[in-house]
Amino acid sequence: MTNKSDIGLIGLAVMGENLALNIESKEWRVSVYNRTVAGVEEGVVEGFVSGRAHGKKIMGFNNIEDFVNSISQPRKIMLMVRAGNPVDELMEQLYPFLSPGDILIDGGNSNFEDTARRVRESEAKDIYFIGAGVSGGEEGALHGASIMPGGSAGAWFEVRPILQSIAAKAEDGSPCCEWIGPGGSGHFVKMIHNGIEYGDMQLISEAYFIMKHLLEASNEEMAAYFETWNEGKLKSFLIEITSKILKYKDAGGDYLIDKILDTAGQKGTGKWSVINAMELEMPLNLIATAVFERNLSARKELRMEASSIYHREASQKTYLAEELIKEIYSSLYASKLVSYAQGFNVLKYASDKYGWRLNLASIARLWRGGCIIRSAFLNEIAKAFEEDRHLSNLLLAPYFKDEIVSALPFWKRLVAVAAKEELPVPAFSSALNYFYSLTTNNLPANLVQAQRDYFGAHTFERIDLPRGVFMHENWIGKA
Ligand code: NAP
Repeated sequence: MTNKSDIGLIGLAVMGENLALNIESKEWRVSVYNRTVAGVEEGVVEGFVSGRAHGKKIMGFNNIEDFVNSISQPRKIMLMVRAGNPVDELMEQLYPFLSPGDILIDGGNSNFEDTARRVRESEAKDIYFIGAGVSGGEEGALHGASIMPGGSAGAWFEVRPILQSIAAKAEDGSPCCEWIGPGGSGHFVKMIHNGIEYGDMQLISEAYFIMKHLLEASNEEMAAYFETWNEGKLKSFLIEITSKILKYKDAGGDYLIDKILDTAGQKGTGKWSVINAMELEMPLNLIATAVFERNLSARKELRMEASSIYHREASQKTYLAEELIKEIYSSLYASKLVSYAQGFNVLKYASDKYGWRLNLASIARLWRGGCIIRSAFLNEIAKAFEEDRHLSNLLLAPYFKDEIVSALPFWKRLVAVAAKEELPVPAFSSALNYFYSLTTNNLPANLVQAQRDYFGAHTFERIDLPRGVFMHENWIGKA
């Protein structure tokens, strides 16, 4: 028994500080270090983590060598700092004081390619490196997050007890933290998680928009619909908070939602998801739509100008609440399914390309608690991948096929109604069109390919010849 810490943590912004408190609450001794510490220079702060750490087994350091030496070997050091250069800079500062077998864990939102490089660089120095995606925001960091660790597999058994102890627990009690795979796979999975989060939020917002404009429902009525949905298949954190947001009143007694400007921001993980899906040549239409809708929302002045030029036809608004709510619900549910099918497909192809051997069922299970996209329906996704480990698309799983077939009549009616009423539902319709493309045996890509061959001699395959035989036609002068 030593007085040394079980783990060290660097970065005491909101995430790092909450994680340190979470780790300590699970009876681990923690050393913490931050680059700058207000008050230290003046000598007024002792053991400098915020007041919340007083009396806890947390030791604060403002010297990186003392910090490293305070941790028992093999050392486990978690970085919770701004993604990008700060992680590399800290690694360079840490290396001189580390011993072979020590473990660095990057819990920030790092780019998965950076993580893959850091794994290689660290392992070349006999240091293990784990890139762990952490989801759940500051609440999750404090009370239990969803954690997606990947990288140096040899370090997993060392860090597993600590990481699983601070992870959220799913309803069946299992920790929302499992080994993801080698290289940057943990951060890749976290990136797709965030992309799916963008998609879910856009879909819920479209449901709200239709309720508001076609049913002219009050905030309380809309909150009640979401509350009811949260008791069924759509049960999820985001549906739950939507209901609470809609009912929330500000200090003046007004509904806050009605006072919030319609411009959405972003930090970039949704965009990264789409860029990487494009690199893999895998459709991720719904998340792309969600990212672009945030971009368009941010162009407020342009939209104001455009809306003053084009005038909408007045709606008849003769919709029966019961019918329309069923259509909105079905559109939300089916579109969400499409979004997850696309997201998991990107994971599957990335896994094949990078040799990660991702366990998609396990990933669905560890997203059931702690993270922003936690939902009941991830259980069904996990089951589908467990029943068929080679499932090429979630929409082909028997359970989801039945779900889509039931939702389809309502889903397509809603997209048609929205088009007629000139209301944007880009994510609902993107999902529907993906579904139609996916289930169409003969797409118009024959014409695209003919055009490519006409102007660029890009060749084409013929339906009356075996696949892989490419032909070129001398179109000009004959047509
Ligand atoms: P943050 O604002 O992303 O980063 C601030 C922390 O980074 C501070 O401790 C800061 O130290 C440190 N830092 C910045 N540049 C540094 C450098 N060059 N060298 C050493 N340290 C440096 O903090 P956060 O919101 O707590 O997030 C931490 C990480 O978790 C990020 O990667 C973030 O993307 C990820 N994350 C955040 C959330 C969330 O909800 N906030 C959720 C999941 C993941 P100083 O105090 O000295 O400036």
